[in-house]
Amino acid sequence: MSTIDRLPPLRDVIERHELSARKSLGQNFLLDLNLTAKIARQAGDLSQCDVLEIGPGPGGLTRGLLSEGARKVLAIEKDARCLPALDEIAQAYPNRLQVIEGDALGIDPLVHLTPPIRVTSNLPYNVGTELLIRWLTPKQWPPYWQSLTLMFQREVAQRIVAEPGSKAYGRLALLAQWRCDARVVINLPPEAFSPPPKVSSAVVHLTALSEPRFPANFKTLERLVATAFNQRRKMLRSSLKSISPDIEDRLRAAGLKPTERAEQIPLEGFCALAREVAKP
Ligand code: SAM
Repeated sequence: MSTIDRLPPLRDVIERHELSARKSLGQNFLLDLNLTAKIARQAGDLSQCDVLEIGPGPGGLTRGLLSEGARKVLAIEKDARCLPALDEIAQAYPNRLQVIEGDALGIDPLVHLTPPIRVTSNLPYNVGTELLIRWLTPKQWPPYWQSLTLMFQREVAQRIVAEPGSKAYGRLALLAQWRCDARVVINLPPEAFSPPPKVSSAVVHLTALSEPRFPANFKTLERLVATAFNQRRKMLRSSLKSISPDIEDRLRAAGLKPTERAEQIPLEGFCALAREVAKP
């Protein structure tokens, strides 16, 4: 195992601070500091950025981010047992690591961050999708973050980058790809973690576009996509009946066939339909 800093190996840190992994907190730790530095590098040049990290745990990725030059890391951790280990990292990188103990779902990180801001996390699986949806649906666009570099279960990662016609294509793909470039940058087997989870994982890198890829009202688009994918195997004329009594005409006006199914419609088609549906 490599050392990216003068701090002790993560196995020693975990043992000394008795950080036995808790399933309820989605604790699957990364111990290979080569790997955490590699993940940090996927976020680009961090030397001029503040980085938000959710769930630092014993600090493997935190150390990767700091050693790769992040200007500042704000780390939010729910498990108080991790705080002494994180404090050691803060001392090794003076004034560059701020740790907040608490639930990331209930904390506004913005007050502690200075733009430009990037988000990089090995997310706890139990709240990962919820956090992603929050980051993708802020009140204003562009959002406060420039990019998201996030570890997910591979199945979730596939849903984020999915293309029309694939089984994984649905709401998450459309939501993510409407306002971001999204790609899988690293695939990881279960053995990369300690303890190994049951499933494989992947790191997804999302870059915020300055404006949505195609014009559409967010609420209308969201309602259309949710309704269409609720019955993804049905033809649009039937799955979207509740949207408007003349949905067939609106589908045609948007350049879509009423007999097509949700999973065949590209993002551009949904945006065109959202614009048609918004017309009086
Ligand atoms: N970043 C570390 C790593 O890569 O080894 C740990 C990643 S582990 C998958 C997820 C971390 O998120 C755990 O440390 C866990 O305690 C923390 N966590 C779980 N739920 C959380 C929440 N709601 N808010 C903040 N942290 C949370």
